[in-house]
Amino acid sequence: MKELPRLSYSSLNMFVQCPMRYKLRYIDDNKSATEALHLELGNILHKALEIKYRNIIDEKDVNYNELFNVIEMGVAEETEKDKGKFLNGLKQLREKYGNELFEEVDAKSGLSYNEKLDIFFEYIQEDVDTSEWKPIAVEMPFEFVFEDKVIFHGFIDRIDQNTNGELRVVDYKSSNKLFSDKDLTTPLQMVIYALACKEIYNKIPVEYQYDMILLGEKQYVTSKGFLERGIKKIQKILDDMEWCLAIDEWIPKPSPLCYWCEFSETNPNTEWYTKGLCEYYCLWTPESRTFKKNKEYM
Ligand code: SF4
Repeated sequence: MKELPRLSYSSLNMFVQCPMRYKLRYIDDNKSATEALHLELGNILHKALEIKYRNIIDEKDVNYNELFNVIEMGVAEETEKDKGKFLNGLKQLREKYGNELFEEVDAKSGLSYNEKLDIFFEYIQEDVDTSEWKPIAVEMPFEFVFEDKVIFHGFIDRIDQNTNGELRVVDYKSSNKLFSDKDLTTPLQMVIYALACKEIYNKIPVEYQYDMILLGEKQYVTSKGFLERGIKKIQKILDDMEWCLAIDEWIPKPSPLCYWCEFSETNPNTEWYTKGLCEYYCLWTPESRTFKKNKEYM
């Protein structure tokens, strides 16, 4: 029997953003070990929330001193997700990236990391009202076959259940800016999570929440029919992917985002072994905001 390809939401999204990047990463298997402050910070804060909500599920008191110690000193990952990997805490991150980076104000949020961390610390200490919604799972692993074409797999940050037995999916985001209304119309990540819940609990969630943990805001997917639209969108992406694979043609989509792509010469933080693997990158940098490309794709 033919083995189905395995896809996560991130790999699907990478294909949508740039088929060439998807090909270099997942078909040619060029892995990059590049680390960045925003990624590492997101990991340790996710972990702290996971510990807090796991305690609530297990009906244990939340030990905030222990939690703050994890955030400050880091912790080894014990779950299936990156098992054995050490997640740096704030102490190690300040040493690694420099304290100045925590003081720099980013243009999108108008806040520095130190200010965002103040928001997070206030937020994580809030009591959780479980009278309506109770957490029932954290870092929930999932895997399901989508229309006999691919296996979607991943982890859901948190699943809550209300007194009527209905489900809510929560995804923590440590980004610098809120989603626009357009981003929230058909978020494919939530479509995949909805289908995963159908597989695990045999029910589709009634609420989808993005918890913007560094901005102190929660955003919801409220658009009607988002699931049906999302499924159609995924079908179309998978058809396009199959086509690219069949003809071995992966068109690059150069944009300012190339600056953060591990295969671009313009990315200052990428590893030497992935840097420059794509020749079609956009020449945009924060210092020179041009949309010119290094080379046209023929
Ligand atoms: S550098 Fe740009 S065009 Fe090239 S793979 Fe990365 S995102 Fe795509």
